[in-house]
Amino acid sequence: MHLNAASLVERDLRTVWHPCSQMKDYEATPPIPIRSGSGVWLEDHQGRRYLDAISSWWVNLFGHCHPAIGAAVAEQLVTLEQVIFAGFTHEPGIVLAERLTRLAPPGLTRCFYADNGSAAVEVALKMSFHYWRNLGFDRKTRFVTLENSYHGETLGALAVGDVPLYRDTYRPLLMDVVTVPSPDCFSREPGESWAECSERRFAEIDRLLAESADTICAVIVEPLVQCAGGMRMYHPIYLERLRAACDRYGVHLIADEIAVGFGRTGTLFACEQAGITPDFLCLSKGLTGGYLPLAAVLTGEAVYSAFYDDYVTLKAFLHSHSYTGNPLACRAALATLDLFEASDVIGSNRELAALIARQCEPFADHPHIAEVRQTGMIAAIELVQDKVRRVPYPWQERRGLRVHRAALEQGVLLRPLGPVVYFMPPYVITPEEIKRMTEAARVAIDSATAD
Ligand code: PMP
Repeated sequence: MHLNAASLVERDLRTVWHPCSQMKDYEATPPIPIRSGSGVWLEDHQGRRYLDAISSWWVNLFGHCHPAIGAAVAEQLVTLEQVIFAGFTHEPGIVLAERLTRLAPPGLTRCFYADNGSAAVEVALKMSFHYWRNLGFDRKTRFVTLENSYHGETLGALAVGDVPLYRDTYRPLLMDVVTVPSPDCFSREPGESWAECSERRFAEIDRLLAESADTICAVIVEPLVQCAGGMRMYHPIYLERLRAACDRYGVHLIADEIAVGFGRTGTLFACEQAGITPDFLCLSKGLTGGYLPLAAVLTGEAVYSAFYDDYVTLKAFLHSHSYTGNPLACRAALATLDLFEASDVIGSNRELAALIARQCEPFADHPHIAEVRQTGMIAAIELVQDKVRRVPYPWQERRGLRVHRAALEQGVLLRPLGPVVYFMPPYVITPEEIKRMTEAARVAIDSATAD
């Protein structure tokens, strides 16, 4: 290894504790020090390049080191880097709130900032609970979540998630939630359509809400794609039905679009495909184009006005983070929204998504691939040991990790979720790069499933 890179790795492993990692794994596969990024490419200290097929944990929308976002942040950096957001405000924070509320589904007129996705989920949960309390509904204390959902790592967000790998250890610390079947279509009956499957799964939550709405604050969902749960996908009909049920029974709907927002699913927001407005819309990740941490929770006048009163009524929402509405992050977000306005990003994504679909077609015949599924710019490939009976590989075999390592050797960054290999590339990926990405995945999957 290059001297500089080797010493960086050595220093890293002496001090740094990485996220979502068993640190011992780095003995076999050390972290790769990245020196620079450009477009879909990352470059390490030896000059090797990696195609970032997962947008660096789904945050990067328009490629690394995009000149326009960089220039906006640089300008902001020498103007105002940060200011307390209670009692003070600033233009980037105001304009971003205006633009987000304009772009979001109708009725979301208020914008509360936080600084990462998990924090946004905490804000939405607390706001929903607090809303009902301010209105005197003290019995409403519980949240409903879908099987296999993921909403973040802080204790509230973890409680409303359902991925055992992340959640189980902390179970004694987590608030009680009600978990209902997921509308996920992977396990649909033979001959059943996505719409039929998702609609069938709706029956249980409908029953639950009918029976228990008086104790339930909100239902939280990842619209259309349960991302960290293995890119499991479902039909918009579920969201349509759920919105109607939440209205019928007086329960909030929280849409966590932290991963699927900003064009990932083929529309700017996934909720648009169901024609619904949630009571809370959580945004983060792609919000700043992948430049800086920022989150926003959008809600409407009904919620806002339940908190608006004389101070002594103690109805205010006192939640705060030091970096709430950081101006640098807001400027990065504004520059990102400019890029959506400057060209038909959603339209060109449609073409890129069609090419990804074409390139993924041959995977369907692979003896260890149970399903290839896609929603917009998210495509997923489900590896299984036994294709006919859909028997998964024992998780201890870590087939996904093998794919990750084999793909890296070919200069492509894939980071499968367990046995699910997926593509979620920046929107600036070219047709040539799409071919390269899918070809590397093919070779990596072949090698990871060879024995
Ligand atoms: N919600 C969803 C749907 C997510 O995918 C994630 C992150 N993967 C989060 C919440 C948490 O966001 P963060 O990692 O910024 O805390």
